[in-house]
Amino acid sequence: MADLKIVQNVPLAGYSTFRCGGPARYFAEPSDSDEVAALFKWAEENNLDVFVLGNGSNCLISDKGFDGLVIRIAKNMSTLTSRESGDGKVIITAGAGLPYARFGAYCVELSLTGAEFACGIPGSCGGAVFMNAGAYGGETKDFISSVTYWDGSSVKKIDGDQCEFGYRTSLFEKLNAEGKTAVILEFEAVLSKGNKDEITSLVDELRVKRTASQPLDVPSAGSTFKRPEGYFAAKLIEEAGLKGFALDDSGAQVSPKHAGFVVNNGGKAKASDVMRLIDYVVEKVFENSGVRLEKEVRLVGDFGG
Ligand SMILES: Cc1cc2nc3c(=O)[nH]c(=O)nc-3n(C[C@H](O)[C@H](O)[C@H](O)COP(=O)(O)OP(=O)(O)OC[C@H]3O[C@@H](n4cnc5c(N)ncnc54)[C@H](O)[C@@H]3O)c2cc1C
Repeated sequence: MADLKIVQNVPLAGYSTFRCGGPARYFAEPSDSDEVAALFKWAEENNLDVFVLGNGSNCLISDKGFDGLVIRIAKNMSTLTSRESGDGKVIITAGAGLPYARFGAYCVELSLTGAEFACGIPGSCGGAVFMNAGAYGGETKDFISSVTYWDGSSVKKIDGDQCEFGYRTSLFEKLNAEGKTAVILEFEAVLSKGNKDEITSLVDELRVKRTASQPLDVPSAGSTFKRPEGYFAAKLIEEAGLKGFALDDSGAQVSPKHAGFVVNNGGKAKASDVMRLIDYVVEKVFENSGVRLEKEVRLVGDFGG
């Protein structure tokens, strides 16, 4: 607790893979659940809203920033351990602040199969649970056996099947939508041993696919939109003639490489530029197909309206 610093006016663009957005009025990186609890208490005493940030790889932060306390769950909470489960499987415990790709790499090191897809996802373990991140047929829910979280008054540990995982959603996302507190602290995952060569070659294959199809060298938050039931967002956007489209030279563009990604070319776009383009894409796709795209990217702070 003694080392916990609450810093004022911290620029957030560097904490978001979109590389835009304004400052946090207050910002802190706790090391454990006691510090998380202390930060919430402090925010309440000071009448401040709280936003829990992971690696910022699925967030668009307002140009006005966040007028409250941003609690970033990152390297201070990034434990990683393993133990045998007794039935030939292995239980991994990962802190919410650990990079999800590091968890994936650790599974590879231990010859565990099932988490190969995690190696290519640039979020934190907490963000992966919150979003039920997934790719290439795998989802975070596939191996989560328990999640420990702080619910605003105490630390709770629940089983994976109580986490209400769905497509890019979880109990934690639902609680958040209801305005309730749920800070993911760590998860346990149960994985089976596999063949290391096969695991490594699957990771390589997925990396090659991702690099070939996604604009990984340009700031973005990955897929901007959720996959609408029965459709692919990128295909609908392409069919609306918007692949590579930009409204202006702000830097915000529908990626010419993958229409499902809105990108921030050169990192020069403001969040408002990105948002204008997202709104435009939603309208044009709706006009063209009758399908209304929903944002997968989460908005942080005030976007007006
Ligand atoms: C290039 C690129 C590729 C991507 N590819 C994929 C992909 O293949 N599949 C996929 O699913 N996603 C993908 N994403 C999106 C993103 O990486 C995932 O959604 C990831 O799970 C978000 O984790 P994060 O730590 O960055 O979360 P953040 O962006 O920091 O936060 C996302 C949400 O989670 C909440 N949150 C984060 N940590 C916690 C916590 N500890 N406790 C409570 N709430 C928390 C935040 O409040 C926020 O609402 C991609 C993004 C990029 C930039």
